[in-house]
Amino acid sequence: MSYNIAIDGPAGAGKSTIAKELARKLGFLYVDTGAMYRAMACYCLRQGIDTADEAAVSAACPDINVTLAYEDGSQKVYLNGEDVSTVIRQEQVGNAASVVSTYAAVRVHLLDLQRDLAVKNDVIMDGRDIGTCVLPNADLKIYLTASAHTRAQRRYKELTEKGQICDLSDIEKDIEERDYRDMHREIAPLKVAEDAVTVDSSYMNITEVVESILELVKN
Ligand code: C5P
Repeated sequence: MSYNIAIDGPAGAGKSTIAKELARKLGFLYVDTGAMYRAMACYCLRQGIDTADEAAVSAACPDINVTLAYEDGSQKVYLNGEDVSTVIRQEQVGNAASVVSTYAAVRVHLLDLQRDLAVKNDVIMDGRDIGTCVLPNADLKIYLTASAHTRAQRRYKELTEKGQICDLSDIEKDIEERDYRDMHREIAPLKVAEDAVTVDSSYMNITEVVESILELVKN
């Protein structure tokens, strides 16, 4: 039997950084489900499909093949055979992902792939609905959060360090809109699973969060 850890939480809470580090320490596979939704959104943007048009996005799903591969321990995301791991990181793709992920056809399209990875491997899977929908029987469920302001500041720092010009208040507004959409959608909304442990990282650094979750794994 594989050991599964689910990490859910809002955008910018540090899920991927924490999950990657935990996966490295535990020797588990890190599965970033947000990247899969981003790849679906990327396809729609490239094809000029209006992401607000549910029927059009749903009709495109059979043409979208998202796969993951692991190279030197890091996850690569392939869209119809093309490595899109870098392009999907753009803010525009993240916002589009938050729109298309509200559609049932998009979620169903990715569910089997996510569950299959968790059956075959010890995984740390991060997303919005992992503890509540994808892996309801996960061995450990974490809800990782931080205030919207802290998350916006972290994103701002990350983007400016990459040389991108951006505005802190625009980022905070985007984050709040994304939170609202993720928490209020009909299907698989972001919420704390009943049996999840909530970790608020607003005043914790990465090492402190990783150590606190490792303690939970040991226990
Ligand atoms: O985590 P990340 O910011 O890469 O996710 C992009 C978007 O994909 C999120 O805003 C969310 O709407 C969607 N998502 C989801 N369910 C997941 C993971 C991500 O709906 N399990």
